[in-house]
Amino acid sequence: MTNDDPIAAIATASGRGSIGVIRVSGKNLQNFFQAITAGFTPSPRSAHYLPILDADGSLIDQAIVIYFQAPQSYTGEDVVELQGHGGPAVMQLLLKRCLTIGQSIGLRLAEPGEFTLRAFLNDKLDLAQAEAVADMIEASSTAAAKAAAASLSGTFSREIEKLALSITEVRILVEATLDFPEEEIEFIEKYQVRSRLASIKEQLDVVLTTSRQSSYLKEGLKVVLAGEPNVGKSSLLNAIFGQDIAIVTDIAGTTRDRIRETLDIDGVPILMTDTAGLRQTTDKIEAIGIERSWQAIAEADLILDIVDARQPNSLLEQWPNQPELANKAIVRVNNKSDLINEKSIHLEEIGEKIMVSAKSGYGIDRLKSLILAKAGRQLGDVSPWLGRQRHVLALESASRHLDRAIEHAMYDDRVLDLLAEELRLAHDELGTITGTVSADDMLGHIFSSFCIGK
Ligand code: GDP
Ligand code: ZN
Repeated sequence: MTNDDPIAAIATASGRGSIGVIRVSGKNLQNFFQAITAGFTPSPRSAHYLPILDADGSLIDQAIVIYFQAPQSYTGEDVVELQGHGGPAVMQLLLKRCLTIGQSIGLRLAEPGEFTLRAFLNDKLDLAQAEAVADMIEASSTAAAKAAAASLSGTFSREIEKLALSITEVRILVEATLDFPEEEIEFIEKYQVRSRLASIKEQLDVVLTTSRQSSYLKEGLKVVLAGEPNVGKSSLLNAIFGQDIAIVTDIAGTTRDRIRETLDIDGVPILMTDTAGLRQTTDKIEAIGIERSWQAIAEADLILDIVDARQPNSLLEQWPNQPELANKAIVRVNNKSDLINEKSIHLEEIGEKIMVSAKSGYGIDRLKSLILAKAGRQLGDVSPWLGRQRHVLALESASRHLDRAIEHAMYDDRVLDLLAEELRLAHDELGTITGTVSADDMLGHIFSSFCIGK
């Protein structure tokens, strides 16, 4: 996929539209432009309204044709764009005509993401920006689309570059000191390496937090409803969604399997899982459901510990040593508040508890805001960029290497080479985000998830 044949594809969505766009990218497309327009000489970046003829001279379409001369184009190569009438048959005819005319220069169909890959390889975009192109197209909410647009404009990449630069400055000092061993002893004190690393690490952790929170816009926040049978888990799911998606009965153990639903709260996709009651059982099918419930809890970003407000017994508290619950964000939700008197409602709301009623709808909006807050967001927040899981993992790893570098900086000169190595690793992790450090298989993986024509 990294060769430099000229490539062509329909860039607009399949199906009918008033306009359809065909995009061709290659090293030198001036002759191609003339051939497809029966002899017209283009001026770069001007819209020319021209007839496009088939091999037999018959008219395919009148199209707007634009010639973008390298390097001022999306891919950084010459690009020719044909904007025709957006019917599938017209687009197929135009594409076929392009491929026929381009045969002599080896023009072929583009692979998914290949235009953007070229933009990346020609330094038009870094890797995080290239990902933002796909994220903008795939965005399922306006909040995600705006965050992706910010990433595409480079807000995220600039943060990463700033961090990488700060690390580079320390690396230069360390490497220089390694080359002149007689200086080593005073080096860490003299250049305040420890405090500089601590400050870099602090900035990195801010970037990490924002990336993790904004990644929920794309990947969704995983929320699990856990609680004794009959406390109203399924009813709450229905109340939050405003429709009947879970089975509600008053026979304990009705919810045998997990029910997953995606709910959008202020642009954040919330992946809700209703679990089977986590109780001991001899019923084989129910036991499978319970096993899956623990698995859902292990993967969750937030657990709603749901109790009946009349007898608030937490199911989760019955499993104090369950490894899946370690370090989890858990919120106690007292359901069925309609069944207790108002005074005790106010008493119960003190602390990390929330009082709701799936039946009356009381507290449901507050519950939604609370879920959002666990994603580090408030209603109406605009994210400064859109993080991906890949970025979060790389930042986490860089943060760990910085931690170790700081540790090595505690012991004077003895571990200077280890310090240098940790800094190099932290730096490389940041490099994988923007693509300055990249393995071919990672690029293949990222770009193959694009649509064709992008
Ligand atoms: P689950 O087993 O935890 O999923 O509980 P369900 O959602 O199936 O509800 C069990 C029973 O409690 C049903 O009869 C519901 O109608 C009832 N229920 C659920 N939520 C409320 C509530 O807020 N108030 C009242 N009064 N009843 C509720
Ligand atoms: Zn249920």
